[in-house]
Amino acid sequence: MELTFYGNKEQLELIRRMIQKGREQRSIIICGEKGLGKKHLARYIAASYLCEKHEGKPCGECKSCKMAAHGTHPDIITVESNANGNYIIDESIRPIVADSAVLPNESRYKVYIIPDLDRSVNTAIAAQNILLKLIEEPPEHVVVIMTARSKEIFLQTIISRTLCLAVTSTSEQESSEYLHANFPDKSEEDITAALAAGRGNIGRCTEYLEGAGFAESVAAARALCDAALTADGYKILRALHAVDSKKQLARECVELFGEIVRDACFCRVGETDEKLSVSCYAQGALRLSSMLSAAECTKLYDTVCNCAARIDANCNLALTLNSFSAKLSRAVK
Ligand SMILES: [Zn+2]
Repeated sequence: MELTFYGNKEQLELIRRMIQKGREQRSIIICGEKGLGKKHLARYIAASYLCEKHEGKPCGECKSCKMAAHGTHPDIITVESNANGNYIIDESIRPIVADSAVLPNESRYKVYIIPDLDRSVNTAIAAQNILLKLIEEPPEHVVVIMTARSKEIFLQTIISRTLCLAVTSTSEQESSEYLHANFPDKSEEDITAALAAGRGNIGRCTEYLEGAGFAESVAAARALCDAALTADGYKILRALHAVDSKKQLARECVELFGEIVRDACFCRVGETDEKLSVSCYAQGALRLSSMLSAAECTKLYDTVCNCAARIDANCNLALTLNSFSAKLSRAVK
């Protein structure tokens, strides 16, 4: 693991100050969208807390940092969920509470990282109830870091005792620096394409470069946007048929198209903050914004969110996409 974290300067500064003053926060929630590096930030904080130099960030040279970088630090414990993302209480959560009574092996702290708690649909609340005591009265050496896409899933009693850090997207410049440093073999053309697709979301840029499913979803979302721009109902239907029968692809395509529409909304109201513009198709968003009024953009965004919610609720995919196609055609007419 790389012991640097890109962007998010304020959050890193906060962590640095806490460590330098010896006031390390003992329970932390990290939230943010998929791909923004929540787990990476959790490991970065763990490495910073355990670094022997106490400079507020991992020095990268001490024994602790080297073990953290190799993922072999015995005092950084990442809790694992099952394949569906659920934490099995008796197998993963209760053992933390039992283990927390044991002193660290090497360092001042033992850091427990519990990633993606929101994906643990069945046990997110039960897990928090069991962790509550640990978070309310942590032993001197215990740190708990949890991550989730949104803060909403946490109990108020947990939030009130916890430092909440929101991970934000990086600037395109920072994403570019990351990609150049981590993919030295990729051509400039590939990196430019990855940046256009993933923007300030380093996880997405990486997925795009690694040729995972994300590249296919980006192509599908751009094709859907192009079809919408022609205002031709048949083309829209055809673009959506391309993702029919593949639920995950359809879901991601709709989500990415939703981001294009959201960017179009921002364009329409004259918003120019680079960080607010996140979609994989900046040109498409711009053209869509010139075609629709602000009210129409907002209405279309609601329609897209509704379609995504229906896919999540396991409604019949073909019917959901057909009805979405009809609504989208009407919206752009
Ligand atoms: Zn160090």
